[in-house]
Amino acid sequence: MKRLVILGGGESGVGTALLGKEKGFDVFVSDKGKIKEKYKQVLIHNEIEWEDETHTEAKILNANIVMKSPGIPDKAPLVKQIREQGILVVSEIEFASKYTNATIVGITGSNGKTTTATLTHHLLKQELEVGLAGNIGDSFAKQILEKDYPNYVLEISSFQLDDIVDFKPKIAVITNISPDHLDRYDYKFENYIASKFRIAENQTKDDYLIYDADDEVLVSWLENHPVQSTLLPFSLVKTIENGAYLENKNIIITIDNNRIIMPTSSLTLEGKHNIKNAMAASTVAHLLKIRKQTIRESLENFQGVEHRLEQVLKINKVQYINDSKATNVNATYYALESMDAPTVWIVGGVDKGNNYEELFPFVNEKVKAIICLGVDNAKLLNAFGSMVDVIVETQFMSEAVKIAYKLAEAGDNVLLSPACASFDLFENYEDRGRQFKDAVRNL
Ligand code: ADP
Repeated sequence: MKRLVILGGGESGVGTALLGKEKGFDVFVSDKGKIKEKYKQVLIHNEIEWEDETHTEAKILNANIVMKSPGIPDKAPLVKQIREQGILVVSEIEFASKYTNATIVGITGSNGKTTTATLTHHLLKQELEVGLAGNIGDSFAKQILEKDYPNYVLEISSFQLDDIVDFKPKIAVITNISPDHLDRYDYKFENYIASKFRIAENQTKDDYLIYDADDEVLVSWLENHPVQSTLLPFSLVKTIENGAYLENKNIIITIDNNRIIMPTSSLTLEGKHNIKNAMAASTVAHLLKIRKQTIRESLENFQGVEHRLEQVLKINKVQYINDSKATNVNATYYALESMDAPTVWIVGGVDKGNNYEELFPFVNEKVKAIICLGVDNAKLLNAFGSMVDVIVETQFMSEAVKIAYKLAEAGDNVLLSPACASFDLFENYEDRGRQFKDAVRNL
């Protein structure tokens, strides 16, 4: 019996353990931290051996194959040891994809993965049987075990791509690339870009790569590192022969001379970045032969994803918007860009080496007041202090929202788009977003 060792007892680890057991592996799960109670129960119930708060080397180094959860860096000494012994290390998507014949749509990028994956799933599910998995919600391995769909939309992080071998999506999407998680890539942007492009490394000309042709990083990488895949770029600013572009407020998608046209006015999602996300998702749908009318209608009734430019409430003609998922400057850039009214902006948290300069024009033009919500706001005060009349600090969401309520006038927006990670004051970005919404509802 082959021995499968799983490092990390979270969603993808436990999902892989279940699938591995079903496929006849001798499975062992090891987590250096604490495994959540709900996952422990699943492992116990399925008679899968596990340990937490330690790694017993003797039980790990006799593996035939190791599944490394995305949170574990390659630099971890144990991972180095495993590789030195010549043991194959794979990610969950690599392991799981061996056990399905489904058509896979793999979506990666620095920003917009969840939105694009959710929207793509929404478009496809109208006419196809399709699962949604990966970084979003359920583990891919667990889904295959529970119900193997003929089609999957997978949200895939660069960490999952780091440990693929044969994984090959029929359709790959790279939404965009901007610096993120560089601590895991030796602080080299090119390593991070290369990791994202691994989504296409096993593709042939019968497979497709959909990408943002306005993203200079992406385009110049592709010029220097050509792929086999059939390319379907999308652009907001230039005409695209094969792929998607914008003309007179219509999205035009052409694949092999087969053209569909959709008005952007039918999009429920706000902001230019969401036109891009809609282009990527609709291109996938068009490739998979979803009818034009269905795509159009589904774009119209898509409700968006929680914490991403989510319209919370309108109070006294002030619109409150929750963009808590904006944990980096690039995401906040698009949020501010999409503001169509004077904005009271709630920003701050754990700074990831942010450079705020690209936000200056939008702040000058649209932001009337700034509320800094972080433990250390020095960098924000320094960057924006001279740009707005009002800039205040707080460490409480309820207070931030009350201040915003006082400052905003009819017709304004109140936007939570932090450009920072959340863990100085909140459990995670979901907690931050929920606290914002609760505070707004309590006004
Ligand atoms: P991810 O899953 O890649 O983190 P999300 O869809 O969760 O992406 O969106 C994260 C943040 O990025 C949100 O604040 C959202 O408004 C913003 N965003 C969404 N799509 C894009 C895009 N195409 N380009 C830049 N920012 C985006």
